[in-house]
Amino acid sequence: MSDQPVALYRLGDEGVVVRSIRALLHATRDLALVAPGAAGPAETAESVRPEGQFSDVYDEEMARAVRAFQQRRGLIVDGVVGPQTYIALDGARWTLGDRMLSHTPGHLLQGDDVAQLQERLLALGFSPDRVDGVFGANTEKAVRHFQRGVGLAIDGQVGPETLRAFADLSRAVSGGSPHTLREQELVRRSGHSLTGRTVILDPGHGGDDTGTIAHGLAESEVTLDLARRVEGRLSAIGVTVLFTRSATTCPDELERATMANESGADIMLSLHCDSTDQSRASGVATFFYGQERFGAWSAVGEHLADLIQREVVARTGLADCRSHPRAWVLLQRTQMPTVRIEAGYLSHEEDAARLADPAFRDTLAEAIVIALQRMYLGEDDTIATGVLRLHDLRAFLETQRAAQDKPA
Ligand SMILES: [Zn+2]
Repeated sequence: MSDQPVALYRLGDEGVVVRSIRALLHATRDLALVAPGAAGPAETAESVRPEGQFSDVYDEEMARAVRAFQQRRGLIVDGVVGPQTYIALDGARWTLGDRMLSHTPGHLLQGDDVAQLQERLLALGFSPDRVDGVFGANTEKAVRHFQRGVGLAIDGQVGPETLRAFADLSRAVSGGSPHTLREQELVRRSGHSLTGRTVILDPGHGGDDTGTIAHGLAESEVTLDLARRVEGRLSAIGVTVLFTRSATTCPDELERATMANESGADIMLSLHCDSTDQSRASGVATFFYGQERFGAWSAVGEHLADLIQREVVARTGLADCRSHPRAWVLLQRTQMPTVRIEAGYLSHEEDAARLADPAFRDTLAEAIVIALQRMYLGEDDTIATGVLRLHDLRAFLETQRAAQDKPA
């Protein structure tokens, strides 16, 4: 909020501040991400544009966007950006989990993430007094109560540990009390949970196309089985899971991409196993959309590919063949972040032996699900890769109930 304008900005104005306001309006989706005709097919809704690519003119379109934002936020709807609208816009770019939150007297943190935190605390019975998007002393007190209740270190700061506790709690609850239902609704709106998302799984090959056959395994069967194991885990935490194919069908890559786009899924995961003539090649690799030449790049895809790569390597011990940008049809034509995983070489005797083991496939599936969770939690690198486990939710709930029985 350091570059907050003191002046008013309105229709007809030009300059760098106008440009930065446009960037904020893109972030809140009040301005369309892709200007009509301005982008080729490579431009996807999740791609991150540097600020320099935005116009610096306050035009009609921008005034409309400002009014839409003001209307939604209960501000005076005049299409003019003054200090109040600017603070609200600037705060809107933060979602719970984007940054560390704490009470900093003299310069209080403000933003939508703080409001989300307060709503969540309130829903769980830890009152921050009111939901105003400002991290003050009462919010800190409520955070401390929450931390004590769930057995965390009590520091009043909202970092990865506390966010994870919120996420675990949202996974643990289902049906029942108004608090529970409200919490689920908040999680859905918060954008920082997998719950309520849709993931489309794309097991490679299928039908008559078996993919690689080696060491007694058919790639199409391994990928479908792995997809089902991922599906089970995602369904259990409230994710809607779709498939691009059944055991007997084999759509081509473009058809798979079209299916994904029409489904409106948030994420696509394409599952394959690798093979080569050189029997010594082994390991796991991940791929995301990127063409350096054209400056087209899926930043979210890259991040997710990297998280999956790290989790799989840490948990399975498969050789690390790293993640790479590719312009393959499926990666390029999907509108959501898509990651293709080449999980082991069927042509490699040891990789194949491990892939034949159901327990190993479970570990692979768990690694993939944890990577997805990490992405939505916005967790940083302070949590060691490969050690986070899907918690025993029942035990967690019991802790929670015990805490509620105690006086705060
Ligand atoms: Zn394949």
